[in-house]
Amino acid sequence: MLFNGIDFDTYFKYYPNQEGYFGRYGGVYVDDELKAAMAEITEAYFTICKSRKFIAELRRIRKEFQGRPTPISHLERLSNKLGNVQLYVKREDLNHTGAHKLNHCMGEALLAKYMGKKKVIAETGAGQHGVALATAAAYFGLECDIYMGSVDIKKQAPNVARMKILGANVIEVTEGLATLKEAVDAAFAAYAHEYKDAIYCIGSVLGPHPFPMMVRDFQHVVGEEAREQFIEMTGELPDAIVACVGGGSNAAGFFSGFLNDPVKIYGIEPLGRGEKLGDHAASLKYGTEGIMHGFNSIMLKDENGEPAPVYSVASGLDYPSSGPEHAFLRDLGRVQYDVINDEETIDAFFTLSRMEGIIPAIESAHAVAYGMKLAKTMGTGSVLINLSGRGDKDMDYVLENYGIR
Ligand SMILES: *Cc1c(COP(=O)(O)O)cnc(C)c1O
Repeated sequence: MLFNGIDFDTYFKYYPNQEGYFGRYGGVYVDDELKAAMAEITEAYFTICKSRKFIAELRRIRKEFQGRPTPISHLERLSNKLGNVQLYVKREDLNHTGAHKLNHCMGEALLAKYMGKKKVIAETGAGQHGVALATAAAYFGLECDIYMGSVDIKKQAPNVARMKILGANVIEVTEGLATLKEAVDAAFAAYAHEYKDAIYCIGSVLGPHPFPMMVRDFQHVVGEEAREQFIEMTGELPDAIVACVGGGSNAAGFFSGFLNDPVKIYGIEPLGRGEKLGDHAASLKYGTEGIMHGFNSIMLKDENGEPAPVYSVASGLDYPSSGPEHAFLRDLGRVQYDVINDEETIDAFFTLSRMEGIIPAIESAHAVAYGMKLAKTMGTGSVLINLSGRGDKDMDYVLENYGIR
């Protein structure tokens, strides 16, 4: 399918290009030593992703360990309540560990094993990426160092416990505000010393090339499965698909199954408390071009041009930028990026729980809220929503801050 001069039939062959660019976004903005480490990972990835043995092992892991394919559920009661549009969800909440993140962590850890590395290193904010990577490390018998700000360690006690039980070293970062940004810096610094024995495992389609490409490719299974399952279930393609966008990994994988189809695609960012800088994390809607954490993309900046403070009720979505491929797809117009605020999210969280018996992650509830909005405006047709994770981690927070609705 030709769209604004881009042929989506051959899209994956040319995007990103050899230097890791999606149009003007992406690249490798790190010092020379880390550049060499990135080049090593890129080369290993290109060798391994063509290897039959690697592909077979990843397939087996997905089936026997992760429980894939995850199903698609038809939200019959909710659809009937809203009108004629039929809503469906792809159930990444049923993937092992309860979210999509394990899809790329298993891929990254398998790559580490094939490269002969002994250790995986990463940062974590809310702890979701840390738990997924600790799970993958335990499976493969790799050491696992997770850098986490001391503020987050206090806030996210259950996830810290999970990582420790899984055998990971949780390394406290006390510098600066002691949250995600400082944890990223500490993890990168550690990796710069240890890259001969270790591999850095990023948590989304972010960071220097090859990570945005590699993480998208590992998440492609979500879109691939969803397309096939949806056609099998209904005999046709959905009219629209929706996913939430933090860094953008669940969206990138899900969208990648449908880019070449006549399907409307919506990426949903968190509007939090409102449009003022600091009250949201909608980088693609309100941000400008800039470089951070090793890549060029669209980001929210403060008055000094530094990454701005961001906020969302969903801790998995509060990052001041998004993956370079999303910036590219936005400029191209192939994906429409829109926003959902905290209030609408909490409403959707309760609505899906009450009407369908599915408690969504607050991140995923952003996509559900948008799907419900679409259902009201479209009149007829179908919408497939990527339910990126389950809401167990959010229940206490929602009850304490919003009460039962
Ligand atoms: C981390 C997380 C997200 C946001 O990350 P993306 O890279 O944007 O997908 C979304 N949903 C859940 C359940 C998460 O844990």
